Amino acid sequence: MSTIFSKIINKEIPAKIVYEDDELLAFNDVNPQAPIHILIIPKKEIKTLNHLDSSNQAIVGKMVLLAKDLAKKYNIHESGYRTIFNCNDDGGQTVFHIHLHLIGGRPLSWPPG
Ligand code: 5GP
Repeated sequence: MSTIFSKIINKEIPAKIVYEDDELLAFNDVNPQAPIHILIIPKKEIKTLNHLDSSNQAIVGKMVLLAKDLAKKYNIHESGYRTIFNCNDDGGQTVFHIHLHLIGGRPLSWPPG
């Protein structure tokens, strides 16, 4: 079943899009946990990290490289930032279309809750 992120990809609901190409979309999180909180998603629907296989290797690599590039664009590359994939219930995943959180712009505590 499709998620809210499919609607964002299809422009059926609005989002503040910060990057788009044929394979990826990046947009601001609607409930930001820090001054910079961007979600990077593949346009192809993949439910969780558990559903990845070697055919997804390139797209996951692109997601991580885009996180690095956006960190530089938003000038948090020197101060630091965090990238997170949540998986399933204990990981805190609420939207079942894989997404890489890029969070920064303030000190982030560790370990997370
Ligand atoms: P998860 O908890 O699955 O790792 O992260 C899902 C994220 O998606 C949450 O941080 C949540 O705020 C964000 N989110 C959920 N629905 C929407 C939406 O409709 N628009 C945007 N921009 N973000 C959303």
